[in-house]
Amino acid sequence: MKLYDPIKKTEYTADIPTPHGSGEGLLGVPLFLDMHTHVRYPQFEGYDTLGEACLKGGFGICTIQPNTKPRLERASTIEIHKRASQGYPVKFIFTASLFGEDTSMGVAYSTDGLEYTAEQLWYALNTHTPRLLMDHSQIYEIEGMFYPGAPYPSYRPLRGESIAVFRTVMLGIEAGWSRFHIQHITSPHTVENIQHLKKYASVTSEITPHHLLLSAEDISTPNMKINPPLAPEKDRKTLIDMTKKGLIDVLATDHAPHPPKPENYEKAPYGSSHIEIAFSAFYTALGDIHTVVDMLTVKPAKILGVDIPPMPENMVVIDPKATFTVDSKEFVSLGKNTAFEGMTLGGKVVGVKIGGTWRYWEGQFLEV
Ligand SMILES: [Zn+2]
Repeated sequence: MKLYDPIKKTEYTADIPTPHGSGEGLLGVPLFLDMHTHVRYPQFEGYDTLGEACLKGGFGICTIQPNTKPRLERASTIEIHKRASQGYPVKFIFTASLFGEDTSMGVAYSTDGLEYTAEQLWYALNTHTPRLLMDHSQIYEIEGMFYPGAPYPSYRPLRGESIAVFRTVMLGIEAGWSRFHIQHITSPHTVENIQHLKKYASVTSEITPHHLLLSAEDISTPNMKINPPLAPEKDRKTLIDMTKKGLIDVLATDHAPHPPKPENYEKAPYGSSHIEIAFSAFYTALGDIHTVVDMLTVKPAKILGVDIPPMPENMVVIDPKATFTVDSKEFVSLGKNTAFEGMTLGGKVVGVKIGGTWRYWEGQFLEV
């Protein structure tokens, strides 16, 4: 089997015994790290089915966002989630809400899924010990449901995000913060603004599979109701070019499982479930396997300061030539609400090994 090492940026051949077959034509890469995962513990999707979905998708480490119920805003709540997430092969790490206790329990603070005003942001930045801040940048002061293509009376401007990154980073610098990670960016203006802000602080960014593969013009089901919303097609194309040029640091899933959404867009919750097919969506959008693997392994690991488990004891095996049609009925995630339903994707995770043991191979979860 060929292996790709994203640290040395080299491919080499190694004799890797697999549960089935020779491994010819397959590529082994390190386990993926997702910087942006949503769990619905204890109401809906817990760590058991989320863990299987992550495993099937090749993710060995997932970073849980704080908009759980109750929110991850106290050390005691994070501790409950940490305990609930133990005992699965996938490792879960946690962010803490920037609007809760000042705690070092998480790997970072996050504002994802939480609405805030400039005033609340300023207060929070000044009452928390500075560390990495993961920010869902948006101008919530402007009213509206902001969903292009959907029948809303008003919408928040899509480009509010590009203003909001300035607000977060500039206020953060003034309050003594120096590391910012801008979540799920959707506008080329945001990418340009981040390049400017990199002069003053460590500012990184991520993009999701739905913002790379789908645009506002595609919206045809409430499962495509996402926050932040899908961008116009011309922005999506520019974002693909910017990702290929290395102007965006990380690929992150924003996996957001929900029970079946109501047909009414206004009542439907935001988000798409897709962590088990995320690699394929990224590969289909970007077309270069090394770029995708780098942005799912070494790049997020460096930002979060965590280690990617070493190969070959830990690895994801990819069939770059496989194609398949997304069918949410095949998902192990309880969230069947995928924005990618019916799409044909190229490249597939066929096997996952963790701690020297194969845990998944071609649709089967393997007992230890
Ligand atoms: Zn999110």
